[in-house]
Amino acid sequence: MISALLLTVYTQGQKRKNNREETPKEQLAIAPKLVVGIVVDQMRYDYLTRFWGQYGEDGFKRLVGEGFNAKNHHYNYAPTSTGPGHASVYTGTTPATHGIIGNNWFDKVTGQSVYCAGDDTQVSVGSDSDVGKMSPHRLLVTTITDELRLHTQKRGKVIGIALKDRGAILPAGHAANAAYWFEGDAVGNWVSSSYYMEDLPQWAKDFNSSRQVDAYKKQWNTLRPIGNYAESGMDANTYEGKFKGETNSAFPHEIPQLWDANGGYEILKTTPYGNSLTLDFALAAMEGEGLGKDIITDFLAISFSSTDYVGHFFGVNSKEVQDTYIRLDLELARLLSTLDEKVGEGEYTIFLTADHAALDVPAYLADSKIPAGYLDMKGIGEKFGEFLQYRFGTTDVVRSQSNSQLFLDHTILTNLDIDIPEAQEAIARELLNYPGIGRTYTAHQMWTTDFSRGVPYILQNGYNQKRSGDVLIVPDPAYVASGRTGSTHGSAQIYDTHVPLLLFGKGIRQGSTVNRTEIPDIAPTMASLLGIAFPNGTTGKPIGEALDFN
Ligand SMILES: [Zn+2]
Repeated sequence: MISALLLTVYTQGQKRKNNREETPKEQLAIAPKLVVGIVVDQMRYDYLTRFWGQYGEDGFKRLVGEGFNAKNHHYNYAPTSTGPGHASVYTGTTPATHGIIGNNWFDKVTGQSVYCAGDDTQVSVGSDSDVGKMSPHRLLVTTITDELRLHTQKRGKVIGIALKDRGAILPAGHAANAAYWFEGDAVGNWVSSSYYMEDLPQWAKDFNSSRQVDAYKKQWNTLRPIGNYAESGMDANTYEGKFKGETNSAFPHEIPQLWDANGGYEILKTTPYGNSLTLDFALAAMEGEGLGKDIITDFLAISFSSTDYVGHFFGVNSKEVQDTYIRLDLELARLLSTLDEKVGEGEYTIFLTADHAALDVPAYLADSKIPAGYLDMKGIGEKFGEFLQYRFGTTDVVRSQSNSQLFLDHTILTNLDIDIPEAQEAIARELLNYPGIGRTYTAHQMWTTDFSRGVPYILQNGYNQKRSGDVLIVPDPAYVASGRTGSTHGSAQIYDTHVPLLLFGKGIRQGSTVNRTEIPDIAPTMASLLGIAFPNGTTGKPIGEALDFN
């Protein structure tokens, strides 16, 4: 009797224990065999909704339908450009902390313009040119991919791939196995840097020598009849750029005939074929490196750059952008079906986001009676020069400008016995007199005020004390300093900050949210899922509602 009772108690205890072990609620971490981070360069959130009816079932619709859609996901800093974007997605923080304050910026120490991924101490691998003199050395903190390398005792592999070097290098982080990018011009090869390796692996050499790339030297016409593309503007219009040698910007684009005048393989970047080529190479890397083949999590960081080149060239409302996204949808379907087959359905996790969004062509907006326009940089420069001369006795007090920030010469100001914050404020006030400039802020304000919302919050997150400038300029919404055709980005405005975030696969709950989430939230969300340390500069927080355990 007693022993029977004990047995019952024991059995119940065992059952509870077994149940506990079986309930996913108590898991500390999910370990997919592979994480695929996807950045779509210049993807606006509304490309999901605007082109929804044109997408198939197996690409964007599968990610949204089976995954988690953060509908109100934003960049929380400016400048919204590619280098800072990729760095922020993978570090879980902003330029204030990770230090990538632009694609290029004026370096206060050397007085030179520097490139975010440039590194003269390295040499190219797989190329005779300088395209491989790159590394992540200007990135000041760790990435989620670095933390995965540390957590797995370097057994989890990390590979970054993009047409753009910065789109491959910054996501892959400091401790990556490799990053690869594309050399256009007359070459058409995937290359790397001595930072990662001495020689390309055999699978990469094989890919290059296969000349698979040449299959894309073909006409670019719309995938479907152009009459079905009701979600974009007229095909031939004055808001689009033209390839050299074209008389108008309408489809079809005769790529082989335009080849030589437009930089050879370089032209592929400004067609959807650049994205297809990127996926071809990424799948070759997966196969060649055996990614996702064992229980130790690997990480493949892919960035699709052609969406950005096409957007800059033709504008966000163009038939070309629509066609590029319809084709990208098919490439996502190809990626998902390959992952199902090679890694296994339910064995991998994906996030998809963008490095920034973009503005409609201001000339088109203005023609549509919406406030928009172009800054008269020449006029502003002349008037501003006169002001500096009058106020400070010399124009030399301004050393340089980059990313809508002015860098002042502190030595000259000190020699003139002018207080630095006073000079910053005088210049900030003067600039407000110029048409198209909506707001200005000073570095002194960035140092002394803790902003919590709106444009100044966004500027402050992008402001790095050691690297950023003295005066921060914010143009009016939809006012830009670039040319009259195509779209651009870089501002603190919502059209540049609102991007998609789709999470999918192992450890991800099906659902959506309209609560605001921010780009630095992605890395801690993935770190929570993987049960690894947060990147060491993390300022974002995990999106708990997207996770299927905790
Ligand atoms: Zn861009």
